[in-house]
Amino acid sequence: MTQKPADNTHPAGSWIDTDTVEKFHYFMDRRELRYPCCPITGTALGYTARQCPSHPGQDLNWLPASGGATLESFVIYHQRYSPDFEPPYNVAMVALDEGPLLVTTVLVDDLAALKIGMKLVCNFEPAGRLVFLPT
Ligand SMILES: [Zn+2]
Repeated sequence: MTQKPADNTHPAGSWIDTDTVEKFHYFMDRRELRYPCCPITGTALGYTARQCPSHPGQDLNWLPASGGATLESFVIYHQRYSPDFEPPYNVAMVALDEGPLLVTTVLVDDLAALKIGMKLVCNFEPAGRLVFLPT
C-alpha cells in the first residue's frame, strides 16, 4: 500500500512550494524581506514550508524580518555560471535573526573577510537584488 504524503511534505521534484516562491518574490519586488510563520503560534518556519506542521490547513503568515542575520556557511565560486556574476564571488547560507535560512550573497571587498558566524544585515541593490552586508 502506498502512503500518501502529508500535506506538509515535499513530493519528489517539488522541493519548494510555488505558492511560497511567489509570496517570497511578491515581497522582494516591494523590497521587503519577510519570512513565513505559523498563524497560530508565530513560530518562524523555513522558506520551504508549505504550512505549519503543527497546524496543517492554516495559511502561513509572512512577517517582516528585522534584517539581521548570521553567516552560517559559504562557498567561493571561481567559475562563471551566470553572466550576472563575475567570479570569484560567494554564495552564502545566512540565518535570519528570526531563524529561517536563506541562500544569498554577502557583499565584501575582500572574500577573505568572510567568517562563519559574522553578523550581517540585509540590503537591496538598486536593481532589487537582495544581498547581505557585514555589520
Ligand atoms: Zn503552527
